[in-house]
Amino acid sequence: MPTTAARPFDARTDETLRSLDESGQYKRLHTLESPMDASVQMRGYGEVLCFCSNNYLGLANEPRVVEAGIEGLRRYGAGTASVRFICGTFSPHEQLERTIAQYMGTESSYTFVSCWNASEAIFPTFCEAGDYILSDELNHACIIDSIRLTSVIKKGVKKGVFKHSDLASARAKLEAARSDPDVTGQLWLVTDGVFSMEGDIADLPGLRRLCNEFGAMLVVDDSHAHGVMGQTGRGTHEHYNMCPGAPGFDAANGTVDYFTGTLGKGLGGGAGGFIAGPKRGTELIIQRGRPTLFSNALPVTVACSANEAIRILMDEPQRVQRLRDNVASARAKIAASGFDVLESPTAILPIIVGDTAKAISMSQRLLELGVFVIGFGYPVVPEGTARLRIQMSAAHTEEHIERLVGALKKL
Ligand SMILES: *Cc1c(COP(=O)(O)O)cnc(C)c1O
Repeated sequence: MPTTAARPFDARTDETLRSLDESGQYKRLHTLESPMDASVQMRGYGEVLCFCSNNYLGLANEPRVVEAGIEGLRRYGAGTASVRFICGTFSPHEQLERTIAQYMGTESSYTFVSCWNASEAIFPTFCEAGDYILSDELNHACIIDSIRLTSVIKKGVKKGVFKHSDLASARAKLEAARSDPDVTGQLWLVTDGVFSMEGDIADLPGLRRLCNEFGAMLVVDDSHAHGVMGQTGRGTHEHYNMCPGAPGFDAANGTVDYFTGTLGKGLGGGAGGFIAGPKRGTELIIQRGRPTLFSNALPVTVACSANEAIRILMDEPQRVQRLRDNVASARAKIAASGFDVLESPTAILPIIVGDTAKAISMSQRLLELGVFVIGFGYPVVPEGTARLRIQMSAAHTEEHIERLVGALKKL
């Protein structure tokens, strides 16, 4: 009689799910039955105001962005049915990559199905044995995983983490790396431009100077800054006058070596990611990057929508100004109603409430009041710093902001 060997997966997974539920960390998905916009239809709740999407410029449901996707679908069909290097490069990909390079002020860009994929491509492709990658401790999960993957794929790549936005800590790590006999190659320093949980920004001029001193390459994931930071919404580098081609560029500040970014937030909100920077890097990605050699290209429809979204952003910088006005208004009104909102120039407004259970119940109560704001607690943020995270959009009106603040006051 054949015996059946034990299979541990089922029991252990049931136990994990049960303990998540018990500790109040179980995520229940909210289903929307309308496009992403300032106000959305949520199953079970009806119309609610949305203050937790990354639809910073309100482009996700902008008619020209939708129309560009439809036109792309008509002309090019559903998808590429191929990776880029075989037969999956369509003219909208080239067009989008030219547009991104123009927007970012870089020599070139190359797209992926997500920024997660772009991140997963960059370090394992760029790094070689003897290199050292230094990362801010609050960097996005895709950067952390990319660095971990690099040290597996390219044996002999070393890594370090510096204290959040702390130049002295970064310097100490670079000095230690320089005197490590195993570190004989390129030094890399990587940071988010805008940090998603705090809504704060990296000190790019300070990091640039530090990188110059050590001959390190500066890589910035600016996903939360596209359409938000800088006078014309080009990103954190524009905020610091480090964006070639943008108003106010000051060559003395230097610039960023390579960017990663997403097309799934302010730049249309569809999907997709990119690497932007000098051509030698994007060429190396085309030759050697595993997520593009072995995985399909961005769907053409999505490329067409993203291209239109970026064109609108470049043609209509007043959208960025409207977002900035909304952020200023919401920040002032929330503070005036007695809440403790973290100061920053971004469109992310975290209100610290302390306790995780409190953040979750406040978020639930807000939803019942018709306002969709997400609550984050431990382990996503440190114990005792649970928060409501409000995200503003250019699509919000003053009336929406009044309703948000009214609901907060009721809490
Ligand atoms: C949202 C985000 C990503 C993920 O982007 P996708 O295109 O959805 O994969 C990557 N990095 C940062 C910093 C982000 O905020």
